[in-house]
Amino acid sequence: MEREVHDLIIMGTGPAGYTAAIYTGRANIKSLVIEGIQPGGQLMITTEIENFPGFPEGIRGPELMAKMREQAAKFGAQFIPGSVVDADLSRSPFLLQLDDGRELLTHTLIISTGANAKWLGIESEDRYRGKGVSACATCDGFFFRDSKVFVVGGGDTAMEEALYLTKFASHVTLVHRREEFRSSKIMSLRVRKNEKISMMLNEVVDEILGNDLHVTGIRLKNVVSGELTEHPCDGVFMAIGHAPNSGLFKGQLDLDDYGYILTKKSSTETSVPGVFACGDVQDFTYRQAVTAVGTGCMAAVDAERFLETIR
Ligand code: NDP
Repeated sequence: MEREVHDLIIMGTGPAGYTAAIYTGRANIKSLVIEGIQPGGQLMITTEIENFPGFPEGIRGPELMAKMREQAAKFGAQFIPGSVVDADLSRSPFLLQLDDGRELLTHTLIISTGANAKWLGIESEDRYRGKGVSACATCDGFFFRDSKVFVVGGGDTAMEEALYLTKFASHVTLVHRREEFRSSKIMSLRVRKNEKISMMLNEVVDEILGNDLHVTGIRLKNVVSGELTEHPCDGVFMAIGHAPNSGLFKGQLDLDDYGYILTKKSSTETSVPGVFACGDVQDFTYRQAVTAVGTGCMAAVDAERFLETIR
């Protein structure tokens, strides 16, 4: 029996994937959306989003994603749970294998698999993950009521996590490896003004300390003097950026040195015709929900045009 070949498969359900599904659905293209490991993407673990246009009062991440999903479903997007574990982009139609063993064929593919939190890569971080070490204040902050916690990083995520944690923790210490912050001025100003937050600059994490059960402290190394200092704490939150979820496509699509999928200028076209990439998996520079929405729309338009050429 001949297998069905889909017109379009969208991998990933962050703002980029949902937007691609909304636009293609509205253009009468049937899309199959593979939800991925974390349906809704990174915004599902975000608190209030204050800078998404159209929501002057702010909107919670999960609520925004639920609305986007509803809108995509309204235009006919079909969702299937699970994720893609293997992809063959060297053949036409493209072949994808899902984690439940199913194989899918498609003429066009939109990759919107996003990015994930990065970790320091030290052994003690692994040992205490879930026992005081976390990369998501929104998910785990609640467990640190009246506790002392450290947040590592100097970007907007670190600022946001530190501010959020003040709702629970008795004290938050922000650790950053240089003196200047990468974050926006408004966010670092809010952190500086918060009496519950103190800062340790020019410091890196040497080790996370703990007993058999959980984190009890952190050892920092001053990058200028080399001095090691130990500080008691109950939790350590990593907020040092993100890595793109593009591993499946290594060797099949052109990626940059950090693993971001390369797309042609002013387009979402990848190095393989018929494969388009949008959102954080191809956006090293902006990494905003709004820009993901924008490139999701671009991918939909690009995929639609490509389909017209092969029909
Ligand atoms: P960024 O890449 O902007 O920042 C990562 C931070 O972690 C940097 O300060 C970096 O230090 C530090 N860092 C990286 N690796 C290490 C390491 N191995 N050890 C110690 N420190 C390390 O990532 P973010 O996740 O903060 O932000 C990503 C994007 O998302 C940005 O564009 C940001 O503006 C946006 N964002 C926006 C929010 C909002 O508007 N509400 C909220 C959260 C994120 P260094 O500076 O020295 O490189």
